[in-house]
Amino acid sequence: MQYKWDEEADVVVVGFGAAGMAASVTAHELGASVIILEKAPEGEEGGNTRVAGQGYLNTSSVESAIAYLNALCGPFTVPQPMVQVWAEEMCKNNEWLASLGGDPQEHQHPPVGIEFPDLPGADCVHKFHDGPTYGYSYTWKLFERLVKERPIRVLYETPGRTLIQNDITKEILGVRAQRDGKDVLVKARKGVVLTCGGFENNQEMIRNYLPGVPYCYTSGSPYNEGDGITMAMSVGADLWHMNNYAGPSMALKVPEVRTSFSMQALHYSKQPPGGMIVVGPDGRRFTDEKFKTRHGKVPVNGRWLPLSTPCPMYMIIDHAHFSAGPLYDGHPSHGWTQIVEKYEWSEDNSKELAKGWIVKGASIAALASAIGLDPAVLEATVGRWNQSCAGGKDTEFNRTLMMAPIAQGPFYAVEMSPSMLNTQGGPRRNEKAQIVRPDGTPIPRLYSSGELGSIYSYLYQGTGNLGECLAFGRVAARHAVAETAWG
Ligand SMILES: Cc1cc2nc3c(=O)[nH]c(=O)nc-3n(C[C@H](O)[C@H](O)[C@H](O)COP(=O)(O)OP(=O)(O)OC[C@H]3O[C@@H](n4cnc5c(N)ncnc54)[C@H](O)[C@@H]3O)c2cc1C
Repeated sequence: MQYKWDEEADVVVVGFGAAGMAASVTAHELGASVIILEKAPEGEEGGNTRVAGQGYLNTSSVESAIAYLNALCGPFTVPQPMVQVWAEEMCKNNEWLASLGGDPQEHQHPPVGIEFPDLPGADCVHKFHDGPTYGYSYTWKLFERLVKERPIRVLYETPGRTLIQNDITKEILGVRAQRDGKDVLVKARKGVVLTCGGFENNQEMIRNYLPGVPYCYTSGSPYNEGDGITMAMSVGADLWHMNNYAGPSMALKVPEVRTSFSMQALHYSKQPPGGMIVVGPDGRRFTDEKFKTRHGKVPVNGRWLPLSTPCPMYMIIDHAHFSAGPLYDGHPSHGWTQIVEKYEWSEDNSKELAKGWIVKGASIAALASAIGLDPAVLEATVGRWNQSCAGGKDTEFNRTLMMAPIAQGPFYAVEMSPSMLNTQGGPRRNEKAQIVRPDGTPIPRLYSSGELGSIYSYLYQGTGNLGECLAFGRVAARHAVAETAWG
């Protein structure tokens, strides 16, 4: 079949986040011409990378990194050739960024977190970011510069829609993208690298693949809608790690804003005054609200499982808490709502009360009626919590932080939804970053990197995602550039 190509390059990269940067810069340095297709408008590219905490993992030893990743995967094993390449490449992230003019700085101030210190190899964890830690998006700014200072064309507002595949050889020849509602056919002479992130904004995929959540909202980019999964599946890809994600946490989501709002009181280390609990639809508490989950996982009978999030959930607070300052944790260190949406939450919460994002009741019973809970049950729940506070011990969930009674009326409720940083699942890839079919054979000329089919199958070490984007972005580009151009 003859195609009328609108654009062409040796390597076509779909998505401009960390993985897209690493793939496109590596391909360019190896002499390939590169086009990046990006769904977002200029200024909103960068995906989750743009609004992340900006830390990336650079492991200190290959042997320890192998042990640690295998331990993180636990019973959800990953093929050893993948683990080996991950471990070898994760040690080289700093060296690679420094060679391009970056300024790797190790995280010195809390939270420097080895997420699972008891696991073998955990001492390999070293977290870095670029340059001095002021402002936000500082590591992303380096990534953006590395692309923009090279002759790599970025086509904004041009989402990849489908992959163009040779009917007989099954090779991927290019991408059908869309711009201004029209098809744009982009020829990839050597290969296509999918780096278009996860399915954080695709509620159907969330219902189908994430464990235990009927819906879930992102604190990252609203443009990650699982497009790479649909594109890869349509050309025969297998999927993996679809049930693993960096979540859930609990956050406010309102229709007016694309991404979720984190609440001060639910932040592990913050201790605003006044009382706060979270209840499920039965009006009862279900967890230690202040427990520091491991990216959404909590210990259950000696195993780590996703935090249970019986929806809809309600954060119940008293007037002492409400009047102490903004309920929203709007400090712009990370998160799309803070950095890109820049929603200005009122200092006294009055604007959000008027919008109905916060519901008020003169008594606990009145508040329960206003949000559709059983008044007697909610009164009993609050009574038990207040007794726990008086006795200095949470008899239900052993919470130790912010042990203040819900005492001073009026009372308030904020509906909480499950929220996440990012999904880990997507098309399965091999140690060459080739996307593979269910039988393990690669789909010719198709590669991926980043959270779209990440290696993380079970437990997650913070900064591992950006580290993996850099590592497998380089791997994907090296193998794609080594292909013989087909035309
Ligand atoms: C608030 C927050 C904090 C985090 N903190 C950290 C941290 O400190 N360290 C860490 O390692 N990880 C962190 N993570 C996770 C990490 O940010 C992501 O896993 C990582 O950035 C993923 O990079 P990526 O390049 O794979 O995808 P992204 O950075 O999400 O980029 C994907 C890009 O693809 C584009 N796109 C989507 N669909 C299409 C399409 N059809 N065609 C073309 N383009 C498309 C998107 O617009 C986007 O620009 C955090 C995540 C969040 C949300």
